[in-house]
Amino acid sequence: MATTTPYSASLDNEKFLYKLVIQLLIFCQGSHKLLEPHLLAIGAKLRSGANLQDLLSELQAVSKTLLHISKQAKQDVSAGESDSAALQNNYLLERLDELLADAEVPLRFQQQTSLLKQRVRAKHSEESYKKVIDSAIILLLNIKDYSVSERKGIDGFLGDLSERLDELGQDVETAGQANRASIDNREMLNTEIHRQVGSLKDSTQAAEELDLLKNHTAEHLDRLLEQLIEHKQLEDERQQEAQEKIELMTQKLQELETETETLRVKLKIEHDKALCDSLTGLPNRLAYNNRAEMELKRWKRYRAPLTLIIWDIDFFKSINDTYGHKAGDKTLALVAQLLLNNCRETDFVARYGGEEFVMLMPNTEESQALGMAENTRKMIQSCGFNSNGENINLTLSCGISEYKGGDLHDDVFVRADQALYQSKQGGRNRCTVFEG
Ligand code: GH3
Ligand code: MG
Ligand code: MG
Repeated sequence: MATTTPYSASLDNEKFLYKLVIQLLIFCQGSHKLLEPHLLAIGAKLRSGANLQDLLSELQAVSKTLLHISKQAKQDVSAGESDSAALQNNYLLERLDELLADAEVPLRFQQQTSLLKQRVRAKHSEESYKKVIDSAIILLLNIKDYSVSERKGIDGFLGDLSERLDELGQDVETAGQANRASIDNREMLNTEIHRQVGSLKDSTQAAEELDLLKNHTAEHLDRLLEQLIEHKQLEDERQQEAQEKIELMTQKLQELETETETLRVKLKIEHDKALCDSLTGLPNRLAYNNRAEMELKRWKRYRAPLTLIIWDIDFFKSINDTYGHKAGDKTLALVAQLLLNNCRETDFVARYGGEEFVMLMPNTEESQALGMAENTRKMIQSCGFNSNGENINLTLSCGISEYKGGDLHDDVFVRADQALYQSKQGGRNRCTVFEG
């Protein structure tokens, strides 16, 4: 039976370790440039017959290098993660910025919104980024709650209005009934007077004595007088009641008129605001959709030419990045005015969103639209726009398409958008008519 002495066991262990080290070194070869010099040194020592003891210092260096490499790898991974998190955060903030620019914010939230926009556009640490996102969510929820409560307020007012109109209707009905009762009463009086007069006539003809006739006549006249007085009293009371009712109804009507007018003005303001872009003062996308629908109907009916232009500011992001968002906002307002000033009064210009504008041109063929667009483009290019005296390169590109055949609005929009894409691809600062 084979026995193993302690000495031969430690020899076996050493052989095993020796083999393991060689295998590990072969495995590590070429894996990292920092390891290479140590591997080369160990290889040389092994070839000259070195044992484990001789390799100890080199093996310790390998161990240190391995530790260093693994630390660096961890740092790289976390730096990569934080890079991609920062990219993601930036993307979210940009989208939030667009959302806030496009959202139609009720008047009372506008100041809060513009403060939030400034915060969105500032530089952010992970912590402040989370706070901005939280504030945006809270603001949007508040706007939603406010809109719902406004809606409820209007519904409540309309419900109340309809109840009060019902009440007024009932008052008018009662007044009508009173009037009818008054007519009936007058007719009854008439019949009674006729009856008394007839009976007086009969008794006059039948009378044989003057005294008797006198008595009869006096009796009839007294009764007539009584009835006339009674009737007058009744009529006076009715008159008084009717007068009071009319005054009450007039007062109710006036109240209703005032409240309805207040609501009408409020709704008009809300309606106008819902269709207007607050930054540029131009109609917004919603207003544009309404107008496009109307122009499409007109075009289908009269078939006069109709052309759509989509404008987009070139490299607008870099204007924001270089001169700040305030300058970016100013640019948008200026471009809006320039586009508006350079087209006909019958043309329709709207801010479609971000730095994109649309122009609907009735009675205009695409070749005419191109001429006008070229003039506008050149004028904007040379408008001398600057920020604190520093010249800003401001150019626009556009895509043009005319309504044709059985077009729906989306068809024309897609074509104009493709033409805009060509303008961008072709180097920007240019106008392109869609070629089918
Ligand atoms: P291109 O020439 O291809 O159109 O490049 P671009 O930089 O103009 O286009 P891009 O779509 O990359 O960037 C548009 C930028 O417009 C991004 C967004 O932050 C900015 N923006 C959108 N709305 C507003 C706004 O109301 N005010 C400001 N200042 N910037 C806005
Ligand atoms: Mg754009
Ligand atoms: Mg652009």
